[in-house]
Amino acid sequence: MQFIKYLTLGVALSVGNINADANESIVDETQIETAKQLVQTALKSDLGFQIVESLTTEVGPRLAGSEAEKRARAWGKELGEELGFDRVSVEEFTMPFWDRGELELSLTSPYQQALYGTALGGAAPSKKNINADVVYFRDIHALMGVAEGQLKGKIAFVDGDLMVKSQTGAGYGQANQRRRVGWQHAERGKASALMVRSVGSDSHRFPHTGMMSKNDDKWASIPVIAISNPDADHLRRLHNLGKPMSVELSSSSKWKGEVNSGNVILDLVGSETPEEIVLIGGHLDSWDLGTGAVDDGAGVAITTAAAALISKLPKRPKRTIRVVMFGAEEVGLLGARAYAKKHEDNLKNHVLATESDFGAQTIWQLVSNVNSEANPLIDEIGKVLSPLGIVRGGSEVPGGGPDIIPLAAKNVPTIRLNQNGMDYFDLHHTPDDTLDKIDPEELAQNVAAYAAAIYLAADSDVDFRKPLP
Ligand code: ZN
Ligand code: ZN
Repeated sequence: MQFIKYLTLGVALSVGNINADANESIVDETQIETAKQLVQTALKSDLGFQIVESLTTEVGPRLAGSEAEKRARAWGKELGEELGFDRVSVEEFTMPFWDRGELELSLTSPYQQALYGTALGGAAPSKKNINADVVYFRDIHALMGVAEGQLKGKIAFVDGDLMVKSQTGAGYGQANQRRRVGWQHAERGKASALMVRSVGSDSHRFPHTGMMSKNDDKWASIPVIAISNPDADHLRRLHNLGKPMSVELSSSSKWKGEVNSGNVILDLVGSETPEEIVLIGGHLDSWDLGTGAVDDGAGVAITTAAAALISKLPKRPKRTIRVVMFGAEEVGLLGARAYAKKHEDNLKNHVLATESDFGAQTIWQLVSNVNSEANPLIDEIGKVLSPLGIVRGGSEVPGGGPDIIPLAAKNVPTIRLNQNGMDYFDLHHTPDDTLDKIDPEELAQNVAAYAAAIYLAADSDVDFRKPLP
């Protein structure tokens, strides 16, 4: 890795000779000017793109708990050292490892045709080749009505609707139900296997993988396969013609015991109140089908690059800026939970947290969930971001990103820089999540927004923390 050149080339920052605002404003003119300079520098820098290119190319796909995710931690540590962070560490934890294995899948009746599918995370292997009739369910609600033993010896297929492409990703939570809990109903019906329509907005023939939910601490005991949207359309049409269908399936996906994962932590130590932490980050693991460029190499790159640009200021901001590259997000926020547990006694000093994990298109909105007395500062941040096309959204919006959920649950205040998700569910968890989908200029807009927002939050005395409930 050779990132220093990108930093020194791109950065020409200096704090101007502007006097601090004499009256006690919430943010002084020097800080505003510095934030604006960070925006300009970030827009000219390709550091973010260099980082995501390096991660996706030098490490590749990074399945949670795999040897590749371990290489990603070494990569993250080396990157933090090279970029000059003050403290770099890796905090390991253990987790159960699920391996995708191999899948063979085809329609065998009314005629022979290959189907494009992939196992869902947590799925069991087929004990032998399964060749069985298909029982069609129009959506997850229809499958939920299945009676005990009704699907004995059959393969259930739960259809659904193509997700509507949208800026906000609306509809994902709902569509995701068939992926998350479909297996529980198929198992109650004693089905031999379950196929689900991929959760995505695309019409390409790639299936979308993703994790299933546990039920009473138990994972599925049958194979569960997501099939591509065009294949799901095809099965729907055959069903509507009244054609009996059968499918042949063999899958070797399975759980393989305890392994190590970990979070990589890069700190810029605050110059005045170093114990106070502004936490940003993304997740280092990815699904294994693509190279995890938009989910979530981009988030790792955006937040690391933003902090690296801030590190080139003449002086560290007052508070510590912490970049966390979370491990094992995809399989149940395991890195985020491990972080919250390990830092349990210090969460009161986490003054603000946010994650980038919704692709790599431009940011359009700033939302927050902080102490109401801190909203004027968030509004000031919004003004600095507005030339980037970012509007100030709600001030009572819970969130902050998936890996921030365990922190927010412990009263850590959050902001979120919402990205345009128009292409996100075309690519999400598919073999098509690759570097070429990232526009370097759109990525640089993200870095600019994070750099300015995080600098202003970290150089402030404003307390974002809400009173304890
Ligand atoms: Zn993600
Ligand atoms: Zn994901």
